[in-house]
Amino acid sequence: MTESARVIAADVTARRRSAVEIARATLAAIDTRNPTLNAFVETFSERTLAAAEIIDRRIAAGESLPLAGVPVALKDNLCLGPDLSTPGDGLGFGGRTTCASRILEHYRSPYTATAVQRLIDAGAVIVGKTNLDEFGMGSSTERSIFGPTRNPHDPTRVAGGSSGGSAAAVAAGLVPLALGSDTGGSIRQPASHCGVVGLKPTYGRVSRFGLVAYASSLDQIGPLAANVADAALALDVLVAHDPLDATSSTRVAPRWGTELNSPAAPRRVGIPRQARGPGVHPGVAATLERALERFRAVGAAIVEIDLPLTDHAIAAYYIIATAEASSNLARFDGVRYGRRAALAEGESLLDLYCRSRGEGFGDEVKRRILLGTHVLSAGYYDAYYATAQKVRRRVHDDYARAFMDCGVILSPAAPAPAFRLGEKTADPLAMYLEDVFTVGVNLAGLPAAVVPAGVVQAGGASLPVGVQLIAPAFEETRLLAAAATLEQALAA
Ligand code: GLN
Repeated sequence: MTESARVIAADVTARRRSAVEIARATLAAIDTRNPTLNAFVETFSERTLAAAEIIDRRIAAGESLPLAGVPVALKDNLCLGPDLSTPGDGLGFGGRTTCASRILEHYRSPYTATAVQRLIDAGAVIVGKTNLDEFGMGSSTERSIFGPTRNPHDPTRVAGGSSGGSAAAVAAGLVPLALGSDTGGSIRQPASHCGVVGLKPTYGRVSRFGLVAYASSLDQIGPLAANVADAALALDVLVAHDPLDATSSTRVAPRWGTELNSPAAPRRVGIPRQARGPGVHPGVAATLERALERFRAVGAAIVEIDLPLTDHAIAAYYIIATAEASSNLARFDGVRYGRRAALAEGESLLDLYCRSRGEGFGDEVKRRILLGTHVLSAGYYDAYYATAQKVRRRVHDDYARAFMDCGVILSPAAPAPAFRLGEKTADPLAMYLEDVFTVGVNLAGLPAAVVPAGVVQAGGASLPVGVQLIAPAFEETRLLAAAATLEQALAA
């Protein structure tokens, strides 16, 4: 059972436990469990303990810190710079930011992501970096130079992806809180497969400064947590306008963490017709119906809505995301960033680029760069990229129409429970279909949360299944109240 971040922060604040003792126990637990799970790609014992000591001192001096002593893990596409508060040059404490890619294998970021800095400033203790699909491109955390992450509920199965390391770390009880990033479902789908809460905020809510870009118009950072209130507390800390991210919102953020004690049940819950389609695993379908039943029991009206572009959203997503990735990943050329290939006598600068990128990127990343370059090329732009942008607009409009009829939408997070390692690696299209219920949310820029909602028997294993709640843009208050209502109703 994963401990609550709020309980840890309360204990450290009241000095019932010290941040140092919690950090030590966390590092020891990671040492024991990580060889099987492969959720962490790096831990920082020295830096972590030094940070925990500072927290204990600040608490002793009477400071109040919302995440006092809470151990946090970071997906390894989030930059963590050298620790300048520590004596010495600090570099020895700095972590790498690899994106699970050969090309960034030895990259050390000179600065820290805004979201990460906000957690640190709130008293969190960063314990390590977690595994992911290379550059966030995948749904299983199998496409990593560090090897696959395993699902804590069944080590023969994937943890989901691409934030699979963060989800597995929380599910295994190694940390109460982790950050992930979500471009097309990468927080929500692994949260569902691992049985934890995953929150993808509205596009622009959380600064992306220091998140290695995959598809900039879709990327968003968010928490994976043991329960809804912890996710809300993390959101409180994460959200603020950041001049370093031009898309960062200036809206004032409510105090979500304190509003959840008696959450208001949603009055109308929409269920997309497409969520009850033939492609949904019977266990996932039953979990969804049970969640609907619970909403009905607390007085919500259930209304059927239509998201007719659900299938087209996948196609549009894989055009827009790859197009943006082809541009974002152009910077990894062996000169400005990352691994530089050795050249033979007489080879040119072009050889250097080709060879560095050829050796540095994995197959799926290369596939996406090829696809993305193709859909943007003269002669194909209108047929693919421009058409995908029109579909994106219509996906947005479909959600807007649906929200005229309901306050929140309930849908599956993934079509089936966690699959076996290796089951989909040879079939990219099967892997892409994992995202059918999540990518529309990114295309429309909406906030969505996954709440663990049941356990399904599949292939001899008991696997957690989450459901997804979706709200209109910037309606995190409504989203979290619905998520907390469901969590309480399922626990009752
Ligand atoms: N699975 C999706 C993809 O491969 C989403 C990934 C993500 O959200 N980072 O693009």
